[in-house]
Amino acid sequence: MSGRKYIYSFEEGDAGDKMLLGGKGANLCAMTQIGLDVPPGFVITTAACLAYLEANRLPDGLMADIRVQIAELERKTGKGFGDAVNPLLVSVRSGSAMSMPGMMDTILNLGLNEATLSGLIAKTGNPRFAQDAWRRFVQLFGKITMGIPDEAFDAAMAAVKEKYGAVQDVDLTAVALAELADAFVEIYRLHTGQPFPADPFDQLERSIEAVFRSWNGKRAVDYRRQFKITREMANGTAVNVVTMVFGNMGNDSATGVGFTRNPGTGENVIYGEYLTNAQGEDVVAGIRTPKPIAAMAQEMPDLHRQLIVLRDKLETHYREVQDFEFTIEQGRLYCLQTRNGKMNARAMVMTSVEMADSGLISRERALTRINPMLLEQLLVPMLDPAHKAAPLAQGLPASPGAASGKIVFDADTAEQRGKSGEKVILVREETKPEDIHGFFAAQAILTSRGGKTSHAAVVARGMGKPCVSGCEAIRIDVRERRAEVGGTTLREGDVVTIDGTSGNVYAGEIPTVEAKVFAELATLLAWADEAARLQVLANADTPRDAARARQYGAMGIGLCRTERMFNDSARLPIVQEMILADTNEARRAALDRLLPIQRADFKGIFEAMAGLPVTVRLLDPPMHEFLPTASQLEFEISQLRHLQRTTRTVAELPETLKLLDPELPRDYVESLGKLQQSLARYRESHSDDTLLARREALLRKVHLLSEVNPMLGHRGVRLGISYPEVYEMQIRAILEAAAECVQEGIDAHPEIMVPQVATAEELKRVKAMVDAVQADVEAHADVKLHFKFGSMVEVVRACLRAARLAEVAEFFSFGTNDLSQATFSFSREDAENKFLPLYIETGVLRDNPFEALDVKGVGRLMKLAVDWGRAARPDLVIGICGEHGGHPESIRFCHWAKLDYVSCSAPRVPIARLAAAQAKIRESECDESIFA
Ligand code: ADP
Ligand code: MG
Ligand code: MG
Repeated sequence: MSGRKYIYSFEEGDAGDKMLLGGKGANLCAMTQIGLDVPPGFVITTAACLAYLEANRLPDGLMADIRVQIAELERKTGKGFGDAVNPLLVSVRSGSAMSMPGMMDTILNLGLNEATLSGLIAKTGNPRFAQDAWRRFVQLFGKITMGIPDEAFDAAMAAVKEKYGAVQDVDLTAVALAELADAFVEIYRLHTGQPFPADPFDQLERSIEAVFRSWNGKRAVDYRRQFKITREMANGTAVNVVTMVFGNMGNDSATGVGFTRNPGTGENVIYGEYLTNAQGEDVVAGIRTPKPIAAMAQEMPDLHRQLIVLRDKLETHYREVQDFEFTIEQGRLYCLQTRNGKMNARAMVMTSVEMADSGLISRERALTRINPMLLEQLLVPMLDPAHKAAPLAQGLPASPGAASGKIVFDADTAEQRGKSGEKVILVREETKPEDIHGFFAAQAILTSRGGKTSHAAVVARGMGKPCVSGCEAIRIDVRERRAEVGGTTLREGDVVTIDGTSGNVYAGEIPTVEAKVFAELATLLAWADEAARLQVLANADTPRDAARARQYGAMGIGLCRTERMFNDSARLPIVQEMILADTNEARRAALDRLLPIQRADFKGIFEAMAGLPVTVRLLDPPMHEFLPTASQLEFEISQLRHLQRTTRTVAELPETLKLLDPELPRDYVESLGKLQQSLARYRESHSDDTLLARREALLRKVHLLSEVNPMLGHRGVRLGISYPEVYEMQIRAILEAAAECVQEGIDAHPEIMVPQVATAEELKRVKAMVDAVQADVEAHADVKLHFKFGSMVEVVRACLRAARLAEVAEFFSFGTNDLSQATFSFSREDAENKFLPLYIETGVLRDNPFEALDVKGVGRLMKLAVDWGRAARPDLVIGICGEHGGHPESIRFCHWAKLDYVSCSAPRVPIARLAAAQAKIRESECDESIFA
């Protein structure tokens, strides 16, 4: 006996302990214990695996314990392990706490050797079946314990098929299979230099060790890294030793896989496939085409009935859709595995609502069993599932959804072509704020650089447009207006399709299917809203976005970025005029033109969000973001100068030519003369001089505004205090729009929010402007205005001074994008382009802090600000409006930290609603230890 209990029979294992028994083992125990027909067997625990890996040998006494268990199997089955008359055969199956499909293999038919093979033949009277089982075992054992490649066996298989003229494996006779098995045994000897082990216990011991070792094999380690499976989630693999049952013992035998409900549609009918006279892997391996389970109702009606009973028992026990494996041996149905079924988003929603309505599960369970991120698939157009096109390239799935269109290489072209009704895809190396009008015009965005939180990704997600970013295989040549991908050249105007859900880029147009909020989804989300405490608001910048956000169930707008309105191509020139103004009067003149435009925008948004809060953030980005870049201007200036030189040269050309050759033909001279005249007219108009002068002035201003580190420079409230007329205009636009709403009976709830605040004094200065404008607007419109005034909290100092800020601010909104940058002292773009991938790959950081909120650092700061802010003002309303507001794990933290709302881009609203409900349902799982 070993000191520890490393082995549990299926009757005794604790079905709840997946960490110890692995998922497969725990479920085999559960099914045995609820009385389902599972072939007898036992589980060797993950603890034994860890002990083996630690000491590099099996724990003392383990094999002795295994002998005891095998004796028990012999008793239950009446067969003998290694018995030549009535042999017991087993499978050795791996299984860890997390399902890792195809990672660690299974050995079938263990216990066969020359002697037991004859016994099996004699007992079954079916030499073909026995030889087939034997050769499969030799191959699997050789592969898994000794690493012999499949190719060696495949070659032997091909040779035997050729010799006997067999087309398929199933065409091989017993004689041919016997020959094949001999060849396999010989391959084993050649590869290992040892004879094939005949002793079943020897076979078993080596198999167990091989399965344990596979836990640290490259495939398994890579898989765990890829899917972020930590030790807390799965540590070591268990080994299940299961009595073999045979689906290949004749036409009353079969094997198959089933789903208790249709995993594609969620429909409440058993679903799956089976093969008569076949062994387990044949269904998956696709050697023969399996039949749908529905066909079994005719072919084996009694077994079909049994299968339905099995299905019902599984669902009543697990209260979850199950994905199970079964084998029928001579008319008897065995269940060999079950696990929770993986379904697409639609099926998850359908089954949640149906199972809750039928009372199988509670509403809480209906809400918690769905990963909120899955919903993303449901709300965007997707590629027609029937399409068969192969992608040209793959980038990062930066914003979900699929779209087709003609490629264009800059935002201006996107806008021109988009306005004339063409569908375009904006293709850039990376995008900048000045490309925004191109986003509006494009169906989708494709960039060759940048991560999932690059500018392109964030803006596209905000607008709900598909985006593939970081598609490095595409080489873009903007000057030549073409892009190279592998061997393909794409020119401007060529049609491509991009799928932001998968990151794939395709040549040509692939049809897409539209998404809709269907009834079951609406039901589920309504349950979520009932369960949740956090409110879910949306980030929306235009009346259109606001209306869309409302359709997704947004309970208001948590962030309306006014600069997005400034970037519209009709308004940008006025904004530039304002920035370029040399005098206060000139600036005011430009602002006077912007005022009605902004007022109309705000009113539109208030209308779309009637009855709900609309949080408007005053101007945030540095001014230079509204101007062209210096290098762009320098390029244009040099082109203009070049043009001037050229026109001058052309003007002199006729004289020069005449001088050199007085015999020059007359018509030649005449046409040159005409050209000269029109050039003279052009030069008189001086349009290039004016243009040049304007460009040069702009360049001087750009140089003047340039900052070493603009994100930490002259922006946000700092701008508002140095150019108060800009903020005053915006405040006026908000309050006048609100006044119009009051007059027209529209229930507007504006909230004015100040960005980048670091000190209470900044906030007080802006509050004074608000008070003055309010008094003026109220007097003029003769209305009383109701609105809130609050602060972004996105600067570390603001968190630390939260108590003082809360004396002025009625609400806080955490801008966690900037706050994360500030807390880490990472610039996001630089981090993502340079070192973050390495940091995550090598485990310095577990997640990208710009995707998943860094709870321990940034979250800690937020919690301080919440506590101190509320201490100063108990009814302080607190929300989050960074990218993290739509990230389920981050939402969970926000709930725990007692925020009032999260705000995220419109398409993420349903995700956030579900995540908010889950956060509430699971709140007891969170405590201070999250900061540890
Ligand atoms: P995987 O995790 O890759 O599905 P499994 O351990 O489930 O591996 O086994 C692979 C195949 O062998 C499955 O089809 C399974 O049903 C079948 N199988 C495993 N053990 C037995 C057994 N004792 N009798 C019959 N078939 C088995
Ligand atoms: Mg399986
Ligand atoms: Mg910010």
